[in-house]
Amino acid sequence: MPTIFSHIAVPIAATLALGMRRVPPSMLLAGMLASIAPDFDGITRQFGSHLHGMWDHRGYTHTLGFALLMGLVGLGLAKHWKVSCLAGFAWMALCCFSHPLLDMLTSGGSGIAALWPLSEQRFFSPWRPIKVSPIVASQFFSQRGWQVVSNELLTIWLPLMALGLSCFALRHIRKSP
Ligand SMILES: [Zn+2]
Repeated sequence: MPTIFSHIAVPIAATLALGMRRVPPSMLLAGMLASIAPDFDGITRQFGSHLHGMWDHRGYTHTLGFALLMGLVGLGLAKHWKVSCLAGFAWMALCCFSHPLLDMLTSGGSGIAALWPLSEQRFFSPWRPIKVSPIVASQFFSQRGWQVVSNELLTIWLPLMALGLSCFALRHIRKSP
């Protein structure tokens, strides 16, 4: 996985692209939580316990089905965010599914069984520029941890923020007379 912090780059970039009027702060916050939620399956490893198969890290929480369930949360919150039900659903489902998509771009770990329970086939992108991050928190503060963070700045944050800011600029250019 990329570090858990880098997954929030997706909802932040999407908010830049769409504008704060369309994505209120509570919707952004919920999207950030949805983008990191799949990695809560790694909590057991923090305590030295190893589960297996789809119950282990990069298991059922890294699937399209889990993202669709997360979409239902967005459906419930759409009214509060003053957006359409479809927008609320899509926001949470896409923020959540961006997580396994980013994981598929990493240089290690297991592939993503995105279609489980329909299929247990695990997918990786043919191009994997993101260095896989340590799962155990204590390993973040090491030479390898720093290499991972600097790699993520280049491969995730920089391109996503550039994309988000470009869309932001385009929206404002179009608006101006
Ligand atoms: Zn993950």
